Amino acid sequence: MALWGMTSDTDKKWPIQKSQDEWLEQLSPEQYYVTREAGTEMPFKGPHLDDKSAGVFHCICCDTPLFSSQTKFDSGTGWPSFFQPFEASNVAEHTDTSHGMTRTEVLCSQCGAHLGHVFPDGPQPTGLRYCINGTALDKKTDNPSDE
Ligand SMILES: [Zn+2]
Repeated sequence: MALWGMTSDTDKKWPIQKSQDEWLEQLSPEQYYVTREAGTEMPFKGPHLDDKSAGVFHCICCDTPLFSSQTKFDSGTGWPSFFQPFEASNVAEHTDTSHGMTRTEVLCSQCGAHLGHVFPDGPQPTGLRYCINGTALDKKTDNPSDE
């Protein structure tokens, strides 16, 4: 009997579906906590925070390209921050009312991984701040990307 269908957080069907066991096998405990249980890594403790080199940040769960180093900025919050996604269609947004706040959750549109939240106080040109757990990201530099 499948247990993962019991989670009521979202009933959206993601293109990439894996069982809880499969995710647990693929991911580290920290990666599982952040991406599959919508956890938050400790500020200033996660990976990629001070990384300013060129590359593309992919989903740790399914390898979808999510954010480019070209849109990364130092927000001072302790989490990697971006002003726009790599492709708008690669991320999904979901209203999150947990912890007594209304925030916009950002998820991978392919596998539903929790990435972080987006806030309307970012820099131009978008004015958005994607506050993302570095734990959810896998940086690739060997991708010449189409600039
Ligand atoms: Zn994903």
